[in-house]
Amino acid sequence: MGTFPDNKSSDRIAVIGGGWAGCAAAVKLSQAGKRVSLFEAGRTLGGRARRVEIDGRTLDNGQHILLGAYRATLDIMKTVGIDAGQAMLRLPLQMRYPAGTDGMDFIAPRLPAPWHMLTALIRATGLARDDKMALARFTTTARWMGWQLHEDCSVAELLERFDQTERLTRLMWTPLCIAALNTPPQRASAQVFLNVLRDSLGARRAASDMLIPRTDLTALFPQQAAAFIERHGGSVGCGQAVSSIAASAATSGRWDIGLRQSDETALFDGVVIATAPETAADLLEGIDGAFDTTPLRAFTYEPITTCYLQYPVQLRLKQPLYALTDNPDTTAWGQFVFDRGQLSHAETDAGLLAVVVSAAGDAIAQGHAALADGIAAQLARQLQNPLLKTPLWSKTISEKRATFSCTPALSRPDNTNMPPGLALAGDYVAGDYPATLEAAVQSGIKAASLYL
Ligand SMILES: Cc1cc2nc3c(=O)[nH]c(=O)nc-3n(C[C@H](O)[C@H](O)[C@H](O)COP(=O)(O)OP(=O)(O)OC[C@H]3O[C@@H](n4cnc5c(N)ncnc54)[C@H](O)[C@@H]3O)c2cc1C
Repeated sequence: MGTFPDNKSSDRIAVIGGGWAGCAAAVKLSQAGKRVSLFEAGRTLGGRARRVEIDGRTLDNGQHILLGAYRATLDIMKTVGIDAGQAMLRLPLQMRYPAGTDGMDFIAPRLPAPWHMLTALIRATGLARDDKMALARFTTTARWMGWQLHEDCSVAELLERFDQTERLTRLMWTPLCIAALNTPPQRASAQVFLNVLRDSLGARRAASDMLIPRTDLTALFPQQAAAFIERHGGSVGCGQAVSSIAASAATSGRWDIGLRQSDETALFDGVVIATAPETAADLLEGIDGAFDTTPLRAFTYEPITTCYLQYPVQLRLKQPLYALTDNPDTTAWGQFVFDRGQLSHAETDAGLLAVVVSAAGDAIAQGHAALADGIAAQLARQLQNPLLKTPLWSKTISEKRATFSCTPALSRPDNTNMPPGLALAGDYVAGDYPATLEAAVQSGIKAASLYL
């Protein structure tokens, strides 16, 4: 582990990157009395989970969903004054396809664990007895193994080993794996998948709840985080891209931070680098004797696309969230549809649907217009409402590097061997979780703790 400055409350710490990892680190450091300067290159805080303004309306760069198991995220939201009950809709764990499709209807009732899962299983429709037995076998065996594999393998291999049926794999495990790891089961890490299941399906009922934002993603945490940092004497600068980190020539053990648009540098006692890993590598490579940056450049990435479709304001789905059966052969690209009108506090969201296409490489290749048309047709078919075929307006947002590919036995860098007084944070840093808000927040808190 790198060495860190003596813990003085007067320490000045720079946090580079105002995504959820950087915001979490900056909040923790501010709370502990450090003087924090948060630098964010973009105009809006939040990084890959942020508000965007398009055609005069406020959307997100991608529809997000959180889990009751995201303990660090929920805690830090509370710290900055967010009421999670107001800011998010809490739904019981569910996988509910529209009636009339060849899907299933699985919903966990509000009973204590493990009764919520057992009852959900018994009541589930669209699953045969064999499928239900397979699901029970999966959870029992995984629990018996302590949710731990001797050697990591792909999720597809794990499902085969656990003798899961084709139908359960298609309707439950594949969408869950793609939603949680944004990596198809054939390439996804079984161990990381088990980690997520352990903390959700395998834990108390509330941990398995699905939490859907009712506000935009910047308002959900980063904006309040910035206000918290400023209340505690720190500063938050958007549009401030850090271009260099250099050991101070004047004061040993301190760091000079340079900004892209300025010749001046500022001196800090410590730095948290909470950017994407390649940017962290670029910044670290300018430092003599910095640690090996190869692992920071070794990630591969998966895209996520969100297609927003606006319908007349009266449109309201029967549920705020549906799973969809996807089939690229019939241009049915969408995996989940969210009724933003039911979810959002903003009146302007009435009639707005958000459809998520995870691990969306093939879908993006169609081009945005064809993708939106295909998804509108899929909604009309599966929700049995022909009006859905012709939205009044649509916008497709593709994030090509939404998450790292969460492959088996992936080596993720940590803060061991970092130069003294420098720490990494970000969803890619070593941890139990795939690239999620929780991984980002956990990494930020861990990086901050190195200075406390
Ligand atoms: C479309 C989409 C859907 C997703 N869905 C979910 C979901 O449903 N649930 C979930 O939990 N997770 C989801 N994720 C993943 C989640 O958004 C990320 O894991 C998380 O936001 C990563 O946060 P981070 O702080 O580690 O990185 P980032 O958000 O990438 O933050 C890095 C920040 O550093 C800034 N920066 C870069 N270079 C510099 C520089 N030189 N100087 C200053 N600042 C710099 C960037 O502008 C950025 O703001 C999704 C992601 C996407 C894209």
